Amino acid sequence: MQRSRLGAIALSSAALLGAALASPALAATDSEIPTFQEFHASTFKDADQQYIVNGDEPIADAGELKGYYDRMVHGSEEAMENGLVVNTVGGSDDKWSTSQVGNLTYCVSSKFGTRKADIVNAMNGGAGLWEAASSKINFVYVPSQDANCTTRNNSVLFSVEPVQTSQYIARAFFPSTPKRSRNVLVDDSIWTSGSWTPANIMGHELGHTLGFRHEHTRPESGTCFEDNNWRPLTPYDSSSIMHYPQCNGTSSNLSMTATDRQGAATLYGS
Ligand SMILES: [Zn+2]
Repeated sequence: MQRSRLGAIALSSAALLGAALASPALAATDSEIPTFQEFHASTFKDADQQYIVNGDEPIADAGELKGYYDRMVHGSEEAMENGLVVNTVGGSDDKWSTSQVGNLTYCVSSKFGTRKADIVNAMNGGAGLWEAASSKINFVYVPSQDANCTTRNNSVLFSVEPVQTSQYIARAFFPSTPKRSRNVLVDDSIWTSGSWTPANIMGHELGHTLGFRHEHTRPESGTCFEDNNWRPLTPYDSSSIMHYPQCNGTSSNLSMTATDRQGAATLYGS
């Protein structure tokens, strides 16, 4: 989740650059499309050395960043008429198997300290939103792994860890992300994000972990385009939990919509 208000403007050359990159029609000249070297140099590098694009989406290393850049510059131009969209990799849906989506295990790092219980609650709340949408989806908290809650803990599918950054409130991963990069990082600003409740923010991040992309990458939003590597599951939904309010969204509190629930049920079963 990218910060709203000033944060969204000040931040994220990656997100802004991404928009310019992927929308050559909006660029006056080809020279406005940065070279990979320029793109690489301007892309935020996270605490764990991953690159962050589109506000809160990690890319594991420079090689994968090059692949992302190439897809943005040479992305397909096919029209997309068709609020939830699933990420695609090589044209296939980026999703969990039926058995795995019913057992999405995670730990919550003890490094959250006095805030750990609050994070556990926010994760419960965010997970519950998706679990209510599809009976096939089940996030499983494994507190016995909290003391060693990192990407290297193979007893859980993913870890939830604190981070200190001014780049985002929280960020997550996609089902196709390798285990070594599969974590949800949360900044302290989650506690001061106004009408966006911590549970809804975690719900947005857990949406990414289920394979859902930002709704505002769809052409109907008119802004914040990312790339074309996704497939629509529902009609466009400007108030989707996956739609940044600051990208022409219409939700004031980032809550889950009936359309979001419908999209999750479409992908994973109701
Ligand atoms: Zn996001």
